[in-house]
Amino acid sequence: MQTCQRCLEPVGVDVDAEVNLAVVLNEEQAKNLPRYYDPLIVEAEDVELLSLIEDELILSLPLVSYHEDCTIQTSFGEAGEAEPEEESKPNPFSVLAALKGKADKS
Ligand SMILES: [Zn+2]
Repeated sequence: MQTCQRCLEPVGVDVDAEVNLAVVLNEEQAKNLPRYYDPLIVEAEDVELLSLIEDELILSLPLVSYHEDCTIQTSFGEAGEAEPEEESKPNPFSVLAALKGKADKS
């Protein structure tokens, strides 16, 4: 189960994994397979098929998930507050205006 990145509620994800493993016993059988299949040559008897499939499924999961009809909108880029960094920077035009004002007065 993944988490919706908008409302942070659990969201079901359809995993469309294309796992076409064909278990074969040797290289020759692997060569005879249609290209559609990924040969899994089983030479040892203790092949960890479960963890192998698990890896495939994890790879097929989307990085982020959303509810398709999730109404909560993200607010990135819509910050109402002014950024403090902008205010601390001196405005070159206001500096020029100040200089010009001094020149006019003298
Ligand atoms: Zn959601």
